[in-house]
Amino acid sequence: MSDARQSAPTPVAPSHFIRQIIAADVAAGRNGGRVVTRFPPEPNGYLHIGHAKSICLNFGVAAEFGGVTHLRFDDTDPSKESREYVEAIQEDVRWLGFDWKDKLFFASDYFERLYGFAEDLIRAGKAYVDHLSTEEIREYRGTLTRPGRNSPYRDRSVEENLDLFRRMRAGEFRDGDCVLRARIDMAAPNLVMRDPTLYRIKRTPHYRTGTDWCIYPMYDFAHCLSDMIEGITHSLCTLEFENNRELYDWILAALDTPHRPRQIEFARLNLSRTVLSKRRLIELVEGGFVSGWDDPRMPTLSGLRRRGYTPEAIRGFCDRIGVARADNRVDIALLEHCLREDLNRRAPRRLAVLRPLKVTILNYPPDQVEELPALNHPEDPAAGRRTVPFSRELFIEREDFREDPPPKFYRLAPGREVRLRYAYLIRCVEALRDPRTGEVCELRCTYDPATRGGEAPDGRRVKATLHWVSAPQAIAAEVRLYDHLFLKENPAEVAEGEEFTAAINPHSLEVLRGCRLEPELASAAPGERFQFERLGYFCADRRDHRPGAPVFNRTVTLRDTWAKIAARQEGGPQR
Ligand code: ATP
Ligand code: MG
Repeated sequence: MSDARQSAPTPVAPSHFIRQIIAADVAAGRNGGRVVTRFPPEPNGYLHIGHAKSICLNFGVAAEFGGVTHLRFDDTDPSKESREYVEAIQEDVRWLGFDWKDKLFFASDYFERLYGFAEDLIRAGKAYVDHLSTEEIREYRGTLTRPGRNSPYRDRSVEENLDLFRRMRAGEFRDGDCVLRARIDMAAPNLVMRDPTLYRIKRTPHYRTGTDWCIYPMYDFAHCLSDMIEGITHSLCTLEFENNRELYDWILAALDTPHRPRQIEFARLNLSRTVLSKRRLIELVEGGFVSGWDDPRMPTLSGLRRRGYTPEAIRGFCDRIGVARADNRVDIALLEHCLREDLNRRAPRRLAVLRPLKVTILNYPPDQVEELPALNHPEDPAAGRRTVPFSRELFIEREDFREDPPPKFYRLAPGREVRLRYAYLIRCVEALRDPRTGEVCELRCTYDPATRGGEAPDGRRVKATLHWVSAPQAIAAEVRLYDHLFLKENPAEVAEGEEFTAAINPHSLEVLRGCRLEPELASAAPGERFQFERLGYFCADRRDHRPGAPVFNRTVTLRDTWAKIAARQEGGPQR
């Protein structure tokens, strides 16, 4: 597509509480006025639209204050992490339009330093090796209403703890034999503070450090220290880490670190009719419910990209939804609205027929072909023109003809006249039926040569304008129509004994073969986006589209349910 035509500048995003906190910190000269944020994905899956919210927030707010954003792989749990995910995540962040420059980091690069910090905690009497089993630890922890109990191993000497921890690292124990715990308070009102586990034994090779380590730090231990090591000033995370903030601060204080990043939580993005949890997305991929991480029905950035979403549309959506502290669910219609707004501005128009019905123009010379001028974008003169061939044999959309038109059906019917976009007025004379199926298989029509361009010199009006293609020059294509992956508003909400996959929309994918496209589309490149007039926005599939064997995905229909909802609620689109 003509990506050179830039979309309109994104309006300035509304302010939000995180921006205000950072502005106040900068104004007060905290951290020397510097702002350093980070996006810290675990490489155990592909990024989804929820991550886009976090990426836009972290990169956006840092850029605003002249700061920088680190891309850090939070790779401290080797069991499900891989290089494939590391690569895919980088590709997705870049595609979204963000640049971490040379600030690419891996928590696994800090393993040695993290280990050192753990020994420091032991030496300060603030950590101990515990031999309780996982179940016992849980049981000793107590509940919200009942304080926990101290482990019998809690009061070992520093020397004994250091020796045991070193032996943990040296591989002298089996997985699960013991863990390193912080020595805080088993009666703390915040359960996270009841002597949380800092290190566990896991004999799983790591995709970067191989078998160098058989102990791995827990998220809570690794995250605050990684932030500290990198000089992060504002560590933005989702609300489920709210209770962990106390531990984040405790660890840094216990080690008396010179730099103390500030953790701030915001609400995660939830989107209707889809799931945004890596665990569930993995289930969809591994269970074969979709064709892969980049299936165009997936809410992953690679799936949205393949579907035809633009980075601008996703960034615009993230601006629109804003950043708040209250959990909510955003209607997927808003995401689609942002996409249409963007594509409407940029996508060149083309003619395509998805379910072809043959039309013969009886009074058109059999060997004649006219090249008729057509606008590439009706609202953008700079987009220029192309020509579309017109001949005696055409295709129109099957649903644009009714033998027995119901009231308000203004399209083609026997005896009726309609306009063919950029071409002529045609009148239907007769509908032929397939003798075997009884279905209408061809329309016999006449055209009025005086109406070239679609206007009648005598001023007579027609009520419908149809899209069409010329049969001999049209190219055949496969077109994939997508609908929401889930029927339920919130598919994550599942009844006892039910799988979330039970709510999958059985009609989320419809494959149409034998669609006909105007010849201009023969040169479409994979990923290129168009509006097929009257049908919606489509893009050439990045994986399967070939010149000579075109495959298009429907990105989104033209019907904008969000605009309707917003109009009904007066006062314009929702914030
Ligand atoms: P999931 O819940 O899908 O497994 P995660 O939080 O485990 O996601 P991470 O790789 O740890 O995935 O996420 C990287 C960053 O993205 C974290 O800072 C996390 O808070 C943020 N993030 C993840 N999901 C969302 C979401 N739905 N909305 C906003 N931010 C999110
Ligand atoms: Mg996580």
